[in-house]
Amino acid sequence: MRPEILYPFFADTISLPGVGGRIAALLEKIIGRRVLDLFWHLPVDIIDRSASPALADIKYDQTITVLVTVDKHDAPPRNVRRPYRVWCHDATGKMQLIFFHVKGDYILRQLPVGEERLISGKVEVYNNQLQMTHPDYMLLPDKRDEIPGVEPVYPLTAGISGKVMAKIVRGALERLVELPEWQDKPLLKREGWPTWFDAMKMAHEPQGQNDLQMNSVARQRLAYDEFLANQLALEIMRRQNQKKKGRSLKAKGQLKQKLLDSLPYRLTGAQVQSGAEIEQDLAQPFAMMRLLQGDVGSGKTVVALLAMLVAVENGAQAAMIAPTEILSRQHYASLTEMTAGMDIRIAILTGRDKGKARTKLLEDLRTGEIDILVGTHALFQKDVIYNDLSFAVIDEQHRFGVEQRMALSAKGRDGTSMDVLAMTATPIPRTLTLTAYGDMEVSQLHEKPPGRKPVDTRTIPLNRLDEVVQGIRRAITGGTRVFWICPLVEESEVLDLAAAEERFCHLEQIFGQKVGLVHGKMKSKEKDAVMDRFINGDIDILVATTVVEVGVDVPEATIMVIEHAERFGLSQLHQLRGRVGRGMDQSTCLLLFGNLRGETAKARLKIMRETDDGFLIAEEDLRLRGAGELLGTRQSGMPIFKVASLEEHGALIAMARDDARLILGQDPDLKSERGEALRILLYLFERDEGVRYLTSG
Ligand code: ADP
Ligand code: MG
Repeated sequence: MRPEILYPFFADTISLPGVGGRIAALLEKIIGRRVLDLFWHLPVDIIDRSASPALADIKYDQTITVLVTVDKHDAPPRNVRRPYRVWCHDATGKMQLIFFHVKGDYILRQLPVGEERLISGKVEVYNNQLQMTHPDYMLLPDKRDEIPGVEPVYPLTAGISGKVMAKIVRGALERLVELPEWQDKPLLKREGWPTWFDAMKMAHEPQGQNDLQMNSVARQRLAYDEFLANQLALEIMRRQNQKKKGRSLKAKGQLKQKLLDSLPYRLTGAQVQSGAEIEQDLAQPFAMMRLLQGDVGSGKTVVALLAMLVAVENGAQAAMIAPTEILSRQHYASLTEMTAGMDIRIAILTGRDKGKARTKLLEDLRTGEIDILVGTHALFQKDVIYNDLSFAVIDEQHRFGVEQRMALSAKGRDGTSMDVLAMTATPIPRTLTLTAYGDMEVSQLHEKPPGRKPVDTRTIPLNRLDEVVQGIRRAITGGTRVFWICPLVEESEVLDLAAAEERFCHLEQIFGQKVGLVHGKMKSKEKDAVMDRFINGDIDILVATTVVEVGVDVPEATIMVIEHAERFGLSQLHQLRGRVGRGMDQSTCLLLFGNLRGETAKARLKIMRETDDGFLIAEEDLRLRGAGELLGTRQSGMPIFKVASLEEHGALIAMARDDARLILGQDPDLKSERGEALRILLYLFERDEGVRYLTSG
């Protein structure tokens, strides 16, 4: 239940003065529907109106507030697009006020000839004359109080002027109330941080440029609040998981030995290490929730299999879930191959299985005939009943929400929770790992299997497209297959699609039947069908928007072309590049760039040429572009922060994590006075999903 003290914060913005239906709709589109969304909308600049120079002393453009006398109005222009001029002066000099689109006698009434007015706005020096276009304020001389000395400037909002925006936020801030302090008092003292209420005020009423900095005390305090809310919520979930009784699955080692003996390679150090961490978790009497993070090709599948074999050795069942049908089938094939000499049964279930075969499969699952079931989210379905499911692997975990993870973990027997191993190929920096996966333990495969040839990565300007096409012609004659990725055009799937279709037609004219197209608007069945034809070699060139599935294995594909590479995030480029370099042959990645404006764009592509370490690339991406961009990929499933900046406040995350662990260690149900305040914090940042796991306060 949301604490009452927060009710006014969650009211609709339409309840604010000056906000009607039209403005509320605009606000909703870009900021949010509720008053508190405006709290997090912080100024990016200031206008300082405190300067009141004599007109004669003004030598450059600046914002001023001056008292002038109105001299005359020029005849209104016939065309409203021409300037309407008003002349005025102070004791030292003259200034013109300029207006466009003047209707009726509004200006005449505002600025009667012979009267004094306080004028504030930006004055420009033009041909030794002073001009001010559309002053921000034109007031009677005794209304000086109505002109703020320093005014916050909010990020521009289509359809809402800066002045109106500032007024709306001011109205929202009227609703602010002091909240019980949730931070540790000694911490506030040490860091010199204000209370939440004061921090909010300070952040919205900057007095100088320093107050706008991310490292200002106000912004640090607010960022820390947000991180603490995030880390508390995750820690609550993590503790909740640990409380769930799970099966203790002890590794017996026989199946493992069999597998290791039959593999044509030795495990890497990272695989051994991760395997040991997982085994240790499985042996515990509570439910495991662990993330295995490793670049494409780092060998996660065999690590997952080793863990599943532990379940099988204990007479239980394991499930492995992948986001698409194709990935499921590939997993099924490689698991079947790896376990060829063992007496275990692996089956596959996808949305496509129907009728008798499905009924039989479910029967075998229920009786325990099947040891390992691989499939899509069909495995979550109600009628899929396991004899004794005790362990689940979730591949490409970012495609599945926390909710699904939880739903799955409830499929265990006798109310025990399942052990869950989530896997992801998205390398993310450490700070982000904490914020996105703080509810899980993390194992990382930093090392790649030996002998991999790094993908030869080149950057080529788009205007050399013809040469690229010639090169591809030679390559496919030699039997290779090619991925051709078309870029995101703005944030519109329609436009993405148009670009991809155009490229498809272009290549089809050259290569005929050998070209296929997949994009996000296709049904997954259609997508899978085209992917299949590519895997089988019916087509040699696959044109795709960024939907190309992470993890799909096409060993014959050795060329990856990425058009307008400069528009992609580095991590995304890295993921795409990971589609090739999976077989024995040398692979190539061609990054075609359009316009490389600025150093950053060049630096980014250079990193792609120089390294294929996904973690390093992710760190660089964070540094060069910021978390918003890094997480901008549509289904990244990562939290976006409202006030905190991962780049600027990153150091605070680890602190918040430690704090959260300490707090819940001492007060697991947040029942103390500070605990109550922390509940308010969780609601304030809408991380209250965790609160329901606490016993009520
Ligand atoms: P990913 O982490 O992308 O899921 P996979 O598990 O699909 O990677 O492994 C990629 C390839 O590397 C597979 O062909 C697998 O057989 C191979 N592989 C895995 N581990 C090793 C290893 N230690 N040495 C050599 N090859 C390995
Ligand atoms: Mg994989």
